[in-house]
Amino acid sequence: MELYELSIHEALEGLRSRQFSSVKLTQAVLERIAQIEPKTQAYLCVAQEQALSSAEEADRRRAAGADATLLGIPLAIKDIICTEGIPTTCGSRILQGFVPPYDATVIRKLRQAGAVILGKTNTDEFAMGSSTENSGYFTSHNPWDLERVPGGSSGGSAAAVCANECLGALGSDTGGSIRQPASLCGIAGLKPTYGRVSRYGVVAYASSLDQVGTLGKDVRDNALLLQVIAGHDPEDSTSADKAVPDYQASLLPDLKGITLGVPHEFFGEGIQTEVEQSIRQALDVMRSLGACIIEVSLPHTRYSLPVYYLISTAEASANLARYDGIRYGATDEQAREIWEAYRRTREEGFGAEVKRRIMLGTYALSAGYYDAYYLKAQKARTLIKQDYDRAFQECQALITPTTPTPAFRIGEKVNDPLAMYMEDICTLSLNLSGNCGISIPCGFVNGLPVGLQILGNAFDEVTILHVAHAYEQATAWHLQKPAL
Ligand code: GLN
Repeated sequence: MELYELSIHEALEGLRSRQFSSVKLTQAVLERIAQIEPKTQAYLCVAQEQALSSAEEADRRRAAGADATLLGIPLAIKDIICTEGIPTTCGSRILQGFVPPYDATVIRKLRQAGAVILGKTNTDEFAMGSSTENSGYFTSHNPWDLERVPGGSSGGSAAAVCANECLGALGSDTGGSIRQPASLCGIAGLKPTYGRVSRYGVVAYASSLDQVGTLGKDVRDNALLLQVIAGHDPEDSTSADKAVPDYQASLLPDLKGITLGVPHEFFGEGIQTEVEQSIRQALDVMRSLGACIIEVSLPHTRYSLPVYYLISTAEASANLARYDGIRYGATDEQAREIWEAYRRTREEGFGAEVKRRIMLGTYALSAGYYDAYYLKAQKARTLIKQDYDRAFQECQALITPTTPTPAFRIGEKVNDPLAMYMEDICTLSLNLSGNCGISIPCGFVNGLPVGLQILGNAFDEVTILHVAHAYEQATAWHLQKPAL
């Protein structure tokens, strides 16, 4: 087995028992990146020198007796998260050349825990998309089939984990951007509860929905990463002042005493038959592990798509007003006066999808339309949240597909925004409710991974990690790797 093939927890054992150093491990992963990157194009930027010097530092710390949670582990970071000294573009031309002067809280925590930052992964521009095709730079490729998308917007992170170009990664999830690419790449990806993880230094797309989360080769790695990044942060007023439980301790092998709900709204029309079959088979496995499976209903699910696209675009139109070419990133040099500079910078710097969303959001917020669109969407959002609250009185977690189909072809949906938006039909409502969810692999259709989604109550990451881990350990889907 090559070093780059190890999971985080396997690599930690090797590092702790001095079988190899972090420098050796990091070098192995950097070589893997150099070899595979022409195929996957998962990274926007590889910070080779910084990575090697952090690895040296990790080895020094370990030699001095330290043993932090992620000491010496090489990770990839979605390019939406600020990294001091490493360019952060959010996949946008408008931020080309921007090097943040500070680390996001999650990065600071990773560094404290000893992690090695390998570089920044590709994303749809400002995390708006489901395929990385909206990146202002290039499209990443799905390691299972290079003609297909890895999903998005954290598609670079998912592809990098899947192709062994890192041991684990961070992403962000506003409407499914961790779970959907995890599903399409056959890895495990977790969106924590809104407020569980600090968003300080994470570039805002839709502030009431955005949440940072983890992508890993298995569930245990997600638990390890979450352990490090979770917790209250005085720098982020939306981060919750709640104790962080021991996530490793939640990884139990069976599901005795657990009741799982199956919301029928997530099955049937629009969901590919083979995908549904994989989920139903997974439910049988969970039943054999001791879980009690019941039917539940989330009746307002069908409103989640319009509600999400009203709220997220409204918030995006406000958040993206700050890109004027003056303070960060690209500036148009030709303009003769300030308004022209703003206009030209935004016209050249933003891609088509970002412009579409700024216009939609500005419209939804404008006088006379606010009540009809934004306010109404907020009311519907409350109903969606109440559906979840009611369901969690009957069961501890919900089981659904993560995506309606496996990975689609590059180019297949770029000219049809609605078809692209439908890709997130199973993930969006969870962001509207603020609850937590994880996607793990549960089968293959025509050689492409299928994702199973486990949805949990607010701040109950423990339960979804438990259910995901028990299922994962009873199956072998997570051990299958693409031939690259
Ligand atoms: N695909 C969804 C969108 O385009 C979700 C994106 C995300 O979670 N960042 O908005």
